Amino acid sequence: MTIKTVNIRNISLTEGTQLFPQSMTNSNTQEMDKTVEQAIRIAENGAGMVRISVPGKEDVKAMRNIVQKIRQRGYDFPVIADVHFNPEIAEMLVGVVDKIRINPGNFSEKNRKNFTEISDEEYNIMISQTCDRAKPLIEKCKNHGTAIRVGVNQGSLSQRMVFRYGHTPQALAQSALEWIGICESLDFANVVFSLKASNAHTMTEANKLFMEEMKKRGTVYPLHIGVTEAGYGLDGRVKSAVGIGALLLDGIGSTIRVSLTESPEKEIPFAQHLIDIASSHYQNHYRIQDDVLYCHHTMDNQEKWIAEVGAISGYEHFRHTLKGVSIENPCFSARQNQELVTAVEQACGIRIRKTEIISCPTCSRTDYDIEKVIQIMDSRFSHYPGLKIGVMGCIVNGPGEMLDTDFGIVGAKDNKVAVYQGKNRISSIISLEEGISLLEKVILAYLDNR
Ligand code: SF4
Repeated sequence: MTIKTVNIRNISLTEGTQLFPQSMTNSNTQEMDKTVEQAIRIAENGAGMVRISVPGKEDVKAMRNIVQKIRQRGYDFPVIADVHFNPEIAEMLVGVVDKIRINPGNFSEKNRKNFTEISDEEYNIMISQTCDRAKPLIEKCKNHGTAIRVGVNQGSLSQRMVFRYGHTPQALAQSALEWIGICESLDFANVVFSLKASNAHTMTEANKLFMEEMKKRGTVYPLHIGVTEAGYGLDGRVKSAVGIGALLLDGIGSTIRVSLTESPEKEIPFAQHLIDIASSHYQNHYRIQDDVLYCHHTMDNQEKWIAEVGAISGYEHFRHTLKGVSIENPCFSARQNQELVTAVEQACGIRIRKTEIISCPTCSRTDYDIEKVIQIMDSRFSHYPGLKIGVMGCIVNGPGEMLDTDFGIVGAKDNKVAVYQGKNRISSIISLEEGISLLEKVILAYLDNR
């Protein structure tokens, strides 16, 4: 079997070797000095590489300046551009950054709203059209030694993929496999893959499936792993630990990102704890009896403790279903231990005891006070098991990413927002205050009728 090594500036990624944490700036890319400072802080906190979003063509020039300034300050960490919607922007960034993250959904068939059927022939033609659209970028990256991450997200799969496989782990794996085919047909191997979802179980299943398929094909590319829209605070950390930890303990992953709706610098220490757990011997403090995972410890570092319990619970639950998790750690109060049990069981899907708030880590596309909305939703609606609320930074990507929520709010320009009920937008672009009030009103009406 061939294990591919991907080179990104001064870092080489090979599955099964070193693990690197990474994060992403959430400042406005046009605010170059602010973005440079934040990128440096993230790197100094221990990130192997730093990602910066490039939403529009006008941001390419800003990105060039940002990279120059980072290098002038003497920092050599790889800089990654995050490109979501316009393949042309990705091409413009070759030679500017060290790696480009693309979303395969943006290279897929256009103007086909509703498929009723797709023949194999038609399907293969669509793959070849995707290949044609990707070719100029891939050829340029090959010539410049620029790496690519093919970042498949459950919320932005191509229409044909959803038509054939639904929003399933298979769809994520299949999408990534198609891109292996596309890259290999163009003789390009400097490519990393990621398969992300906001549900930890879906994300781990997709990655395991993809890894199995890569092994069957005989070539393994590095994986970047993470749970999207994990949220914030304890729940966000636990969700990431359950998904990322389960994969790391299975030996899957080269780079990881813990996506939190908090300042990105805070993601790195937690990511590092997860990396440490992957190489530690934790077994003495954990045992499974009657399908319950018992965790006994005297670890007093709370973040490390959360990371370890989350990772081991995810690993064990996704291998053989657990009925519950029991935690005893005298360094924390009974209430803290119970809160951790609740968060872990919810993230694993063992027991749902509270509302799930799905929120993105924000990026340059966020232009409203997302943390304020989260706090309001959390304080008003946190105790409704089964209720899912999405709080997303932008209207471009947010609706797709909060696909399976009951209600949601997404940011637009100038501190404005739009409100969703399920998949339907139920407001125009309105002020943040109007949006919060509408969201509260529709959730309350829903809860009254439940
Ligand atoms: S959903 Fe959030 S993280 Fe994703 S592109 Fe929009 S603002 Fe950025």
